[in-house]
Amino acid sequence: MSLSAHPDLVADLVDANHILFHQGIVDAFGHVSVRHDQDPGRFLLARNMAPAQVSAADIVEYAVDSGEALDPAAPRPYLERFIHSEIYKARPDVMAVVHNHSPAVLPFGIVKGARLRPACHMCGFLGEGPPVFEIRDHAGAATDLLIRNRELGTALARSLGQERVVLMRGHGCTVVAQSLRLAVYRAVYTEVNAKLLLQALPLGEVQYLTPEEAAAGHTTEGQVDRPWNLWKQLARSGLGGS
Ligand code: MN
Repeated sequence: MSLSAHPDLVADLVDANHILFHQGIVDAFGHVSVRHDQDPGRFLLARNMAPAQVSAADIVEYAVDSGEALDPAAPRPYLERFIHSEIYKARPDVMAVVHNHSPAVLPFGIVKGARLRPACHMCGFLGEGPPVFEIRDHAGAATDLLIRNRELGTALARSLGQERVVLMRGHGCTVVAQSLRLAVYRAVYTEVNAKLLLQALPLGEVQYLTPEEAAAGHTTEGQVDRPWNLWKQLARSGLGGS
């Protein structure tokens, strides 16, 4: 089944996959999706594969309602596609979703009382620190921690609420935005802020952004095309051109 989405959107999604790998946000695991440009009840996501290897031919259209591919003959999907479908369902404002296991973010989801509060001007989107999704609250203490079904996707979306990032205890995080480029930007800078805090916390008391400073930092996000264009070029050359 051919894609009904605009080819430019598909091309951006392919670049987003490559950028997230090249920036160290995803490895063999993790995924990025974008809502369909003509039908808000659909979203685009690669088939089950490493993001760095995704090409336009690997992009599949999914239904927001079910989290299943529109084409019954579609290739094997990501197990955790329900992260995407249930967030698109709960948040009509969200146009793109990144799910990853980026290494510096993980500690903030597993240490009791730790909070990933914004500490630099690029990271105001973190607000007062993302909520932490605890899968044990929804499925007990014997899961594999994966968002394997719609029910867990719904629970994760509820934990995200109106925020832009939700940490997932022992697993990773999920980042949302009103555009694909902004979701990539936020995923990269969530990791930047986490690294910065891991360096700063041993030195002493950290001065975080005030809520007002965090809110004012949204002006930086208006320049999202600048890092996007840089990262795209770096990813294309770094991955041998594609
Ligand atoms: Mn995962």
